[in-house]
Amino acid sequence: MKQLILLSLICIFLYSKPLVSVSIAPQAFFVEKIANDTVNVNILLPQNVDEHTFEFKPNTLKQLEKSDIYFTVGLEFEKIFNDKFHRNFPKLRFVNSQENISLVAIKDTHSHKEDKDEKHTNLDIHTWLDPILVQTMAMNIFKALAQQYPEHKAFYETNLNTFLAELDSLNLQIASKLRTIKNRKFIVYHPSWGYFASRYNLEQIPVEIEGKEPKLKDLQELIQEAKEENVKVIFVQPGFPENAVKVLSKELDAHIVQINHLARAWESELLKSVDQLATNLQ
Ligand SMILES: [Zn+2]
Repeated sequence: MKQLILLSLICIFLYSKPLVSVSIAPQAFFVEKIANDTVNVNILLPQNVDEHTFEFKPNTLKQLEKSDIYFTVGLEFEKIFNDKFHRNFPKLRFVNSQENISLVAIKDTHSHKEDKDEKHTNLDIHTWLDPILVQTMAMNIFKALAQQYPEHKAFYETNLNTFLAELDSLNLQIASKLRTIKNRKFIVYHPSWGYFASRYNLEQIPVEIEGKEPKLKDLQELIQEAKEENVKVIFVQPGFPENAVKVLSKELDAHIVQINHLARAWESELLKSVDQLATNLQ
């Protein structure tokens, strides 16, 4: 009996898959596209939590400790814990999944005045909503996985090439769905659609300013701008603070539509968002 238990423990040990960690759910989708079932993926950010204000729980650290690789996406919580991570988990490999992507400053003020104040320039890290930037992210993920698990390199390479081709056709599909939209500006609570918008010749007008609910003055400017543009829909993400959006929707007689920029089912959720944009911006 004892031997049997020992044997099953050895089997579990031999066949348990390696663990890799990612910050947000869409990265899990990308990792699985390449690694398929050769790894388990641990997502640090819980569902419906603001990715910019999330704070680590002891439980989050436990899972991270068991991982071989941690794929980052430039979020605030990664930076806060960076030094601590390196000190506490010397074996954990940190891989920037946005390597070779030039990030641009986030545009989240409604005033048209030039803002030359350096401290207000935050880089936009929401690269995962643009399929073409995701191609670069996928190549970075592939490189790290192939280095870590060289026995699977050929398999990963085949999967990478399939994924890159899928992203090409997804890009064409999105472009054609959005081509005929007349009103190319849209209001969205959280400014996560910047790269997506510039890829498809749209413009996002965020409600949130520097990660906070807008002040009354900002809200008034936003209402003014939205009225000029005849905006009739406001996009929000799951778990957003509702106050400002309620005021806006009443003032503009606009309806509220939910889109999720952090879904694990990345491709289907992105296409759903595209359909919502296409339907509501005619
Ligand atoms: Zn964000």
